Amino acid sequence: MWDPRMEGMPAGDLKRLQYRLLKTLVYRLYSFSPFYHDRMKEAGTHPDDIRSLEDITKLPFMYKSDLRDNYPDRIFTASQDELVRYHVSSGTTGKPTVVGYTANDLESWTTSLARSLTACGLGRGDVMQVSYGYGLFTGGLGLHYGAERIGATVLPIGTGNTERQIELMQDLHVTAIACTPSYLVHIGETANRMGISIRNDTDLRVGILGAEPWSEGIRTTLQNELGIRVYDIYGTSELSGPMFTECTEQQGIHIWGDIAYPEIIDPESGEHLPPGEKGELVMTVLKKEALPMIRYRIGDITSIDDSVCACGRTSPRIMRIQGRVDDMLIVRGINVFPSQVEHTLMGIPEVVGSAFQIEVDRRGALDSMLVRVEMSKDAFSDKITDLMKVKAKVTHDLRNSLNVAADVELVAPGTLPRFEGKAKRVIDRRVY
Ligand SMILES: [Zn+2]
Repeated sequence: MWDPRMEGMPAGDLKRLQYRLLKTLVYRLYSFSPFYHDRMKEAGTHPDDIRSLEDITKLPFMYKSDLRDNYPDRIFTASQDELVRYHVSSGTTGKPTVVGYTANDLESWTTSLARSLTACGLGRGDVMQVSYGYGLFTGGLGLHYGAERIGATVLPIGTGNTERQIELMQDLHVTAIACTPSYLVHIGETANRMGISIRNDTDLRVGILGAEPWSEGIRTTLQNELGIRVYDIYGTSELSGPMFTECTEQQGIHIWGDIAYPEIIDPESGEHLPPGEKGELVMTVLKKEALPMIRYRIGDITSIDDSVCACGRTSPRIMRIQGRVDDMLIVRGINVFPSQVEHTLMGIPEVVGSAFQIEVDRRGALDSMLVRVEMSKDAFSDKITDLMKVKAKVTHDLRNSLNVAADVELVAPGTLPRFEGKAKRVIDRRVY
């Protein structure tokens, strides 16, 4: 264990610690955050009402839309001169989500990953290829700092150029890779085409996989075909980034109790559900300075196991994510909301913003996304050059707002289905 005292803390002691951290957080936010102060007042909850950890249910939820409505930094409880970094991820409509970090926030994120990577059997002597995107996306830099902290050697290669990734994996004796599960499948297939066996011709032994949904089936295939062990990693940019992984038991993702407090609720009623029951994951980050998160509704569906893990760690575990309560898609590791597509199309007069369809598929091992867009009656033309211009504009604007490329198909006015009530705009043909 990276921190045996924290990771093996008896359940009762951990609960007391969590209560103390929660109480401190709530008092701080009630006093210093106009957003949380107003929210608590609206909910009729005063910090004095929090007398046990279970009283957390008296606190109001926080939603992704709160971040959008307070863009870019109105929920922050640190001033700009206290921030050492920003990350930016997709929002539900026009504005992205901005996350700010103080030095302590980065420290807490790095500590969390140091414990997690250690739990995956990694440490000094390992060489980790970080094949997540670097930059505004949290995956690359998050894993980078976590791996350095445990004394591993980092190869900060980022995404793309798969043949070079495999070459360097061989030459630098890489033992661990962090990437999306579909990208590791792609690496395996590309290596085969190059006449290289990951199992026999490389030192790779561990994969840390996340940023998109995957299944036990893919785990079994990857482990058998590549001869390595692969582990699930969890986090979202609002929590800081990828923060928590499974341990070598592969029986759920350890959520470090001094860092975050997970709850499962019924997504309809908002009611708290007991361990073992499936529902929506709600997270409270107990240590976060710049962008505090109390009862943040992440939208992922899972359940909690609070029994002591066979590895000896006492923190609760969340099970593999089984879906979303909303219609968020993950395409090549990037979150995409149909509402973002709609918002973008609304800004283009030549098309009907409310009539579109998204089709997601996997070509080989990589995601592809096609957006079918209806032309407006006025702009519809049989001149191919006019259509090409509109198509180029839609492609460009979508790429800009989604941060992931989509193929665009223009269709004649009135050809896409109309919906009464909730629209079904997404066709997802991928198999997880
Ligand atoms: Zn464990």
